[in-house]
Order: sequence, then structure tokens, then C-alpha cells
Amino acid sequence: MMDKCEGEGFYSTSFKEKADVYVINGCCVTSRAAYETRLFAKKALQNNKQAKVIVLGCPSYMQREREMLKEIGVHFILGHSYKHEMPDFILRAMNGESGIFADDYSKSYVDESVLCRFGNRARAFCKVEEGCNFHCTFCILPMVRGKERSKSIENVLKEIKCLIESGHKEIVLTGTNIGSYRFGFKKLLQLIEQMDGEFRIRISSIEPVYIDDSLINILKESKRIVKHMHIPLQSGSEKILKLMGRPYKKEDYYNIAWRLNKLGIALGTDIIVGFPTETDEDFKEEEAFVKSLPLQYAHVFVYSKREKTPAASIKGEINGKIAKNRSKIIRRIIALKNYAFRKSLEGKRVELITEPTKVVIDGKAYRKGVSKEYVVVLIPSSVPPHERLWARIVHVNRNFTFAEYEEKA
Ligand code: SF4
Repeated sequence: MMDKCEGEGFYSTSFKEKADVYVINGCCVTSRAAYETRLFAKKALQNNKQAKVIVLGCPSYMQREREMLKEIGVHFILGHSYKHEMPDFILRAMNGESGIFADDYSKSYVDESVLCRFGNRARAFCKVEEGCNFHCTFCILPMVRGKERSKSIENVLKEIKCLIESGHKEIVLTGTNIGSYRFGFKKLLQLIEQMDGEFRIRISSIEPVYIDDSLINILKESKRIVKHMHIPLQSGSEKILKLMGRPYKKEDYYNIAWRLNKLGIALGTDIIVGFPTETDEDFKEEEAFVKSLPLQYAHVFVYSKREKTPAASIKGEINGKIAKNRSKIIRRIIALKNYAFRKSLEGKRVELITEPTKVVIDGKAYRKGVSKEYVVVLIPSSVPPHERLWARIVHVNRNFTFAEYEEKA
């Protein structure tokens, strides 16, 4: 989108600066994300009262979100498929036009565009699929992103080639439900494996039901796929998993987690607490289950009721304070697991890809790098960005992982 806009003569600036037009990539998957989208729209108009504001993404589908954004003074609210026409919408907004253009999923729009640059980042995201045919009862995504549509294998490979030629060293394959990639996700991985170039592959997130023997074999044999998988668990209570409409049992997840662990693959997950009817007993079961898993990290969410989802009509909402407390308990367990995982890397060599981002800690500047295991590692800031290199982990504390540069990878 940025490429297209810059090609038409627009230039981007930091959000804090006064801009003529603000384009906000919105989200409404959780009530928090929807709130933050509105907050950004408000801030944009506070920065410049005369500015035009365009919100892109799933809020365009939700009647309530659209009304609230209009009230704030947003000029255009657009569905994802309109992002390619952004230069046109910017001009229209500057000419005083406004409107709402939601995606029409009945038309099964497939984004076949081939991206060649992902900003200044070392790691580029390649979206191979959009939409989901699953029916998790808490999830609004199938409604706001529509049914599964996949980019052709040819265009995915073209995009990866182009991103590598632009200097990106890691390609993160993304999608709403990537395992359901229509033309065969495993076949796609095998084709990417055979491509030329110095790059590595990361799978952003994949549902447990897609982890079978043949995928595990691909992960084992691959020279490109990193040693990290993100597999959403969502709940550690059998009853809640069923109510969530998740098509697996705790035991299935447990077996997958430990099989991957034996292959040295670091595991990340998503967990929702406070789902309707989650009793203290259910939560205790969840807590014990989370403790039993070899997790590197987890994104922990408090259940967020989204209108029109089946879970929204389940009676037995959990008190906000109780849900927050449960989230705190799980986060604490995860923090300990994450620390133990990073501590286990102390003294070891890790392969990093360095990002342009620097951080200052106790007056000393560091460059950020991401390891194959998905650990953010800090190395001396003199190391240039966009490098693929070996570094040795020299110190790990509760918050950071420090390393010394060793050699180019
Ligand atoms: S698989 Fe993921 S995107 Fe699809 S419905 Fe379930 S939670 Fe939502």
C-alpha cells in the first residue's frame, strides 16, 4: 500500500507529525483492538483538525464500529480489498469526499498482488491466504475476513523471490488460517525449500489440526524453516475447548507440543481466559495444563465478547476482575517458562537476523535481532541491520537476552 502511494507521489511521515492524510490499518478482532483503532483516528484528528482520516480493515464490516468511526469524523472506512486503490481514496478524501466501502466476501476476492518490499524491515511478511472456514465460537474473523481464499502458488513464489531480491532475509508466511491454504500448504513449503537464495522461512501461526506426521517430517528435514512454531491452544480446559468449537483435545495438543520439543522447535501459543462459564475448576485445569507444556512464550488474552459470534449468546459471563486475575496467573507461568527457555540458551550460539531497531538500556545502545527460536536478542549497536549472523548469548535476565557478535551466517 505504501509502495503504491509513494509511487503516486505521496510521502509518509511519522504518526506524531502533522500529516494531510492519516491511513489507519484498523482491527476489530477484540474490543481492545477496535478501541485502539478509534483512539488512533481521534489522535490523528487531534494532530491536525483539517486532516483526512482513512480507516482500513475489518472495522468496515461491523455496523457498530462504522458508526463510531463516522462519529469521530473518519472520512473513508474501507475493507481490506480496497487497499490497492489507496492513492485514489487519498485524493478523493482530499477533495472532500467520504464514504464506507466494505468488502463483499460473497465475491471471494483473492489478493493476487505480488509485494516486493516490506518497508525497512529485515523480516518480510508474505500473506498466502485470507479468511477462515472454521467456526471457533469466540472468533469474529470468519465474519470480517470471509471464507478461505488463497493466493496462487505461482504468485506466492514470485513474491518470495522478489522479497529476497530486495534484501529481506526472513520470510514470514502469514494468513488467517494458513494450514487451510487451498493449493496445499505442505506442497508450498516444499517448493519454497527448493528456491535459490539466502533466506529462512517462519510460519506465523498454524492450527493444531494441521500438525501431522508429514508436516513434522518437513519441519525436521527443512534447512529453511526456523526452529519455532506458533500453535494456538486457546484453552487448557477440555470443557472450554469444546465450547469454543476447537476441533482437538488437550491430549492432541500435548502430544504435538512434546514431539516438536524433541526436535528442538520452540513453541509459542495463544490462550484465552475468562470464556463464558469458565469455573474455578476449569481454570485450575487450564493452569495445570499450561504448566505441563514446553512453551517458549504465549499471548494471553482475556475473552472479549464480539457481537454476532456464537459465544456472545452463551450465558455465564465471567466477572472482569476474575478474568483479569486469571490472565495474570497464566502470564506469570508463561513469564517463568520464557525466562527458563532463554536462560537455557546462555552460552550457546544462535542465528540472528538483525533489525533496524535499536534500544538503549542503562545508557548503552543495542541492536535488535530475532533468533530462529523467536527470541529477541540484543547485540552491540555497531552490528549493522539486515545481517544474518551467528551470535553467542552471553547474558539473560528477566527482561532481555544479550549476545556478542561471532560471525556472518
Ligand atoms: S481457526 Fe482461527 S481464525 Fe479461524 S475461526 Fe478459529 S480462531 Fe478464528
